[in-house]
Amino acid sequence: MAIIYNIKNYFEAETIKEAAGLLAEKPNLTIVAGGTDVLVKMHGGRIEEADILSIRKIKSLEGIKMLQDGTISIGALGTFSDIAVDVVVGGNIPILAEAATSMGGPQIRNIATIGGNICNGVTSADSASTLFAFNAVLKLQSSQNERLVPIQEFYLGPGKVALKPGEMLTEILISPENYTGFSGHYIKYSLRNAMDIATLGVAVVCKLKDKNVFEDVRIGLGVAGPTPIRCQEAEDFAKGKVISLETIAEIGKTAVKAAKARTSWRASKEYREHLVQELTQRALKVAVAKAGGGEIA
Ligand SMILES: Cc1cc2nc3c(=O)[nH]c(=O)nc-3n(C[C@H](O)[C@H](O)[C@H](O)COP(=O)(O)OP(=O)(O)OC[C@H]3O[C@@H](n4cnc5c(N)ncnc54)[C@H](O)[C@@H]3O)c2cc1C
Repeated sequence: MAIIYNIKNYFEAETIKEAAGLLAEKPNLTIVAGGTDVLVKMHGGRIEEADILSIRKIKSLEGIKMLQDGTISIGALGTFSDIAVDVVVGGNIPILAEAATSMGGPQIRNIATIGGNICNGVTSADSASTLFAFNAVLKLQSSQNERLVPIQEFYLGPGKVALKPGEMLTEILISPENYTGFSGHYIKYSLRNAMDIATLGVAVVCKLKDKNVFEDVRIGLGVAGPTPIRCQEAEDFAKGKVISLETIAEIGKTAVKAAKARTSWRASKEYREHLVQELTQRALKVAVAKAGGGEIA
């Protein structure tokens, strides 16, 4: 008889300290937050026989707040539904709410966490490209240590992240210099509108000078490579340029250079590159409008 969820042992922690202690004692524990990845994998046989550590009851991992120095702190257990309606997110980094509402369907958004979205190491994670664009920093905790890792250093390869044995993600931090004055737009391109993972995800944030010059532009892409990426060359090109259709077209073209797209059943490499070029331009135009830029000629 097939076993649907082959859970060998089940542990539940109510505090970060308790979870870190259990992870130190039993480094093979599989952390479960919302379970929308882990349980699906167990059901499909991609994870066989697991010792589970549920962190769902750890209250201190919930909540989104602004710290005294203006840093936005998002608890690892923040669900996509929480993020979509949160006032700190809505008032300061609304592009993350856009990304959150593009994710899954309402039932999945109610249970799936941002921490799980990052820690599964998947390039299509809807929160990742936006967090890349904001230079988010991840707080990782073990029983011995707490360390901060920039999100761009966290993704090591498909499904591979920089969590060491015994570590868990507790918070996602976005410092004020990384969001103040920036406006942004997220485009998720998928084969259907609901309940589909991205064929390409594009998060663009920009800051303008005198309404017609790019002071700063940051472009985060999902599914343009084995991990989410930033488009450094395109960003460098954009800085200080007068905003025009020509400049935006060049930014879109240059963004493709960062892509390491591949062909899958969802799209060919060439089509994904076309999407990078086109959607970067579209997202940037919307971001400029949101930033109060004038008409783009
Ligand atoms: C029907 C369906 C639709 C979906 N649609 C989308 C979509 O549109 N976009 C998208 O991006 N994803 C989608 N997903 C994938 C999934 O829902 C998300 O990746 C979700 O954010 C995972 O969060 P979770 O809390 O459920 O993770 P879990 O399944 O609990 O965990 C995922 C991984 O992260 C680890 N983990 C979780 N929390 C921590 C932590 N705090 N510290 C260390 N490790 C941790 C777990 O051990 C596991 O390896 C979909 C899934 C389903 C089933």
